[in-house]
Amino acid sequence: MAGEFELIGRHFNWPAPQGYLGVGDDCALLPVATGHRLAVTTDLLVEGCHFFPDVDPETLGHKALAVNVSDLGAMGARPIGCVLGLSLPRADDAWLAAFARGFRALADAVNCPLVGGDTTRSPSGVIISVTAMGEVPVGSALKRSAARPGDDLWVTGVLGGAHVALELLQGRHPQYDDRLDALQPCLERPIPPVAFGAALAGHAHAAIDISDGLLQDLGHILKASACGADIDFGLLPVHPALEGLPPELVQSAVLNGGDVYQLCFTAAPDMRETITDLAGQYGVSASRVGRIRAGTGIHVGNSLLPLGADSYAGFDHFG
Ligand SMILES: [Mg+2]
Repeated sequence: MAGEFELIGRHFNWPAPQGYLGVGDDCALLPVATGHRLAVTTDLLVEGCHFFPDVDPETLGHKALAVNVSDLGAMGARPIGCVLGLSLPRADDAWLAAFARGFRALADAVNCPLVGGDTTRSPSGVIISVTAMGEVPVGSALKRSAARPGDDLWVTGVLGGAHVALELLQGRHPQYDDRLDALQPCLERPIPPVAFGAALAGHAHAAIDISDGLLQDLGHILKASACGADIDFGLLPVHPALEGLPPELVQSAVLNGGDVYQLCFTAAPDMRETITDLAGQYGVSASRVGRIRAGTGIHVGNSLLPLGADSYAGFDHFG
């Protein structure tokens, strides 16, 4: 049956960019600019654990790459390539064509060419492994440990959309189902601001991509940097389709909603103009939402509702 899987591999045999050696030799060769470090991130997605068996394969292809390139941007790294490992119970040509289409559309959009990979038969369920590589100038990576008291706290894009989309798909708020069309792309087709993240290298201090929720992911920066943060809830960029929803739903979606794949980052106040200019240049919205301070924990001011213990569900870094 190996032949069948070799054939399937052809769905992913895309021409290598200039200066690369792509599929067809023992290894791919990627150019890494002088004075840069190679940034590498990998994710494993397992059917039944990270996605449902009936998920749209084109969406799955998009998201499998999105979660990886999001990490490159969060490191200040410019994508240079990715590799894909696929383990499949059977070689379903239509499924693979759709998966490859979703994967490639995003790979092209963020300039992260697929340079290699492997396909095998899986005894049960689909398993997807994506490794993305990027380059970042030596000394300029946006490490979690680099936030400093006095830094501004920034967020890209808008928050809350993916969380509410997921709850609507779960049938939890049927009265608001008319908003699903506007919100579902946040969950299924996030476009991480990778090029903007790379442009922040050398200008911003710490960054993280919001995958588990703003409070929890900011918590990782604060823990690594031994700092605290103040957020002004009123400055947080809320997805426009959340307007008029119950305040408790909006607040939990914005503060704790995951699957955002936008950036939370910190930078010195004298970088405000530079960051605003870069955001304009890369077509990204960047909102200044608070500041980093000495101490520990996150204080959210002007929230819609009092922040009870529930608001910090999953946010256990400061006990
Ligand atoms: Mg991450």
